[in-house]
Amino acid sequence: MDQNIERELPGSLLANRITRRQVLWLLGASALSGCATSPVGGGAILVGMSEDEEKAVDQKVAPQQFSQDLGAVQDEAINQYLSDVGRRLDAKVHRPQMPYSYRVLNANYVNAYTFPGGAMGVTRGILVDLDNEAELAALLGHELGHVNARHAAQRQGQAMVTQAAMTGVNIVGTAAGFGGLTDLGTKLGASVLLSSYSRDNEREADALGQEYMVRAGYPASGMVGLQQLLVEQQKESPGMLQTMFSTHPMSGERRDTAKQLAGGKYAASNTRDAGRERFMDNTASLRRIKPTIDACQKGEVAMAAKEYGKAEERFRTALKATPRDYAANVLMAKCLSEQDKDAQALEYAQTATRVYPQEAQAHKLVGVLALAQKDPDMAFEHLDRYDRLLPGDAGITFLKGISLEGMGKRPEAAQQYAAYLKRTQQGKAAEYSISRLKSWGYLK
Ligand SMILES: [Zn+2]
Repeated sequence: MDQNIERELPGSLLANRITRRQVLWLLGASALSGCATSPVGGGAILVGMSEDEEKAVDQKVAPQQFSQDLGAVQDEAINQYLSDVGRRLDAKVHRPQMPYSYRVLNANYVNAYTFPGGAMGVTRGILVDLDNEAELAALLGHELGHVNARHAAQRQGQAMVTQAAMTGVNIVGTAAGFGGLTDLGTKLGASVLLSSYSRDNEREADALGQEYMVRAGYPASGMVGLQQLLVEQQKESPGMLQTMFSTHPMSGERRDTAKQLAGGKYAASNTRDAGRERFMDNTASLRRIKPTIDACQKGEVAMAAKEYGKAEERFRTALKATPRDYAANVLMAKCLSEQDKDAQALEYAQTATRVYPQEAQAHKLVGVLALAQKDPDMAFEHLDRYDRLLPGDAGITFLKGISLEGMGKRPEAAQQYAAYLKRTQQGKAAEYSISRLKSWGYLK
């Protein structure tokens, strides 16, 4: 792939046609899966963390990650319900001053996570599997446990120790070629922060979570129900479990610990109402589309196994049931693009932008697919939209330059290339930017 790009330099990328392979690469690069465990990661961005730094990390990194998970569900009532349960809990925690916030994400996999300052996301995939409000309180309680025990800040300290032992490692340098196209600082920040905690961290978060939920008036048995659900999930579909539980085969132990506490120290709490009816009422709109969520889950598992035909079938099932489901449209677009069906992919991506114009991912998809279809006007419109929704991604700046160049707007394109070069001077995109600026007389 790099060779292709090489061959096309220094002519115009768009004139020579940006290939689908390159486009896919650009899309794939945003996931940066291979870098999640890189010890090069967090240290350069975060040095231990003060409380202010924890909050700053949330502001910088959380919006990107939430968008990777396709943003908050468009149903405000469900987000409000989650926030209400969260507020009830975070009034009882050790660090009540933190700016906790809660949203249900459009992602289908089974997960919940928090950033160090308390910005939390719960996927619709896990929400539809819970049975009552006490289980939801256990889930949020666990995440609040991580924030209150400052696990991310601690781990960041450890990362620094590792980092100090290494020399000459620099983030931009590791991003060979177009790797520089995604904002590595931001992405690595997120993946490092969300990578797995230690077993002891998980145990402590469970203990704190159960304590908080009892203080907030819930029965401690909610934690047992949550842990049991995760034990079952791990057996049935381990592929869909992420971050919170996948890395440690310890869910049985955690369930047993929760059970012990619920039957002992917190026994008195178990006569309380688990809030099943309230939970069912408030999450009804999501459970109504559970078949869609299930189909999307299966499609994503097939995608991960590179079984694109099978995945496409699943997404088709999901879209048949709910044609205007944002996640299903985005996933279908990605799946079709993997199969070289870019024109069809573009249609689904466009539908997604119409269904949920305030969410960024579909705009990026349309932007990149439109470039592959040699439609720089459409590409620019959506890349610019993405840029305004989630500012700061250098790769988008570069692609805006490519689009403007394709539109014949040379001074505007030059501005974007110059802006890109302010962020990084290394890699193929930087080389390309320099070559354009030189041939247009902006650089000597
Ligand atoms: Zn955890």
